[in-house]
Amino acid sequence: MIQKILIANRGEIALRIVRACRELGIKTLAVYSEADMQSLHVQLADEAICIGGPQSADSYLRADRIISAAEIADVDAIHPGYGFLSENAKFAEQCEQCNIKFIGPKSKSIRLMGNKSVAKDTVRKAGVPIVPGSDGPIDSEAEAVKLARKIGYPIIIKAVAGGGGRGMRIAHNDVSFAKEYHVARSEAEKAFGNGAVYIEKYIQNPRHIEFQILADSHGKVIHLGERDCSVQRRHQKLIEESPSPFITPDLRKRMGKSAVRAAEAAAYENAGTIEYLVDAKGNFYFIEMNTRIQVEHAVTEEVTGIDLIKQQIHIASGEKLEFDQGDVKWTKHAIECRINAEDPARNFAPSPGTLSLYYAPGGHGVRVDSHVYSGYTIPPYYDSMIGKLICYGSNRKIALQRAYRALSEYLIRGIKTTIPLHKAIMSDPTFIEGKATTAYLEEFMSRTPLDLF
Ligand code: ADP
Repeated sequence: MIQKILIANRGEIALRIVRACRELGIKTLAVYSEADMQSLHVQLADEAICIGGPQSADSYLRADRIISAAEIADVDAIHPGYGFLSENAKFAEQCEQCNIKFIGPKSKSIRLMGNKSVAKDTVRKAGVPIVPGSDGPIDSEAEAVKLARKIGYPIIIKAVAGGGGRGMRIAHNDVSFAKEYHVARSEAEKAFGNGAVYIEKYIQNPRHIEFQILADSHGKVIHLGERDCSVQRRHQKLIEESPSPFITPDLRKRMGKSAVRAAEAAAYENAGTIEYLVDAKGNFYFIEMNTRIQVEHAVTEEVTGIDLIKQQIHIASGEKLEFDQGDVKWTKHAIECRINAEDPARNFAPSPGTLSLYYAPGGHGVRVDSHVYSGYTIPPYYDSMIGKLICYGSNRKIALQRAYRALSEYLIRGIKTTIPLHKAIMSDPTFIEGKATTAYLEEFMSRTPLDLF
């Protein structure tokens, strides 16, 4: 039995975990940086310990301090949320060694799926389709060019240790390939401390479709359907919805089965996500597995009625999943708009500052997950997401209309946000018709007057 959880995160996800724990009667310990003293999760948790300075490297990434806090406060488990240490196999291993339950998969699974090329190889052996590409990292330019020609341009060069949409370069021919290959390597070295890169066929205008997985410690693995995350800026998700307007019941069945096989191949436990790219013909290709809860998990919660954070805690406690694949029903349509402190008109430049006014929408079918409030100052040190608006209804049309309505009520003063952009997208015919691919946002921005934002 888990009685007390340390939340090794901040922002809306920390608050989300506090809320789930409250409902389960589990005590919470918040750890926070000096910049997050005023954060809502610190105030709502049962206990809170400051673990260091504002920079993530001095606080939220300090595994040693987090584990010390866990020992001092005598917690049974650590929930890592997303980002920070959530996909750090070493941290999960340290928790295992200290007899503190890491709410997530075993460190072995994180290590396996964390290396993108090893992950691809693992799922390929289980019969899951992958994007054609190199078998692993490629070390020489000559070898890389040879393979790029064989696969055929365009080619995407990706960092083995990449994440968050960073560390990717696209090349259309031998000349640009040679240049991009070296840029990618040095960027990867700088960003991830690991210059290793691999290459893949660049799928033109795909959809990004991912499957939510739940796996218990007794060998049962099920999927909770897909999320369509094709609306992206700089390869980072901005809008997510479920079900995908593109996916047919037959394709859902095949992709879902394949996702379950991928998770089984990693001996996976807890909540995870299998990400695919899907081309216009409905061919799907595994790109990676995220071995943690995702930002967009709430979309799946509203469609299926399953509380994913509670499921994570139940699974970590060794409980069996209470339902089978056949019990999972997709009864609603849900859409999430990420509310970021960014200026869409200035290439999504961060817009930190103080919220002179914050008023969140409500009403039927509207959920807001956010840690901010009127008077809150957004620290400049972290991710720019300050909230998630999730709207749902019995079908896609209602969910989209509801999202537009809720966005119109959402008031945030003092900083720039993505709210006006989301409003414009919710009334854009291409999006409404369900035609958005990963190329959509750039195309939309190029035909929309920036003064709208
Ligand atoms: P990260 O881990 O950094 O998020 P992913 O591998 O998940 O990287 O890819 C993020 C996004 O980059 C995808 O959703 C897609 O838009 C784009 N992308 C990645 N690989 C390819 C590819 N082979 N072809 C086309 N687009 C790709």
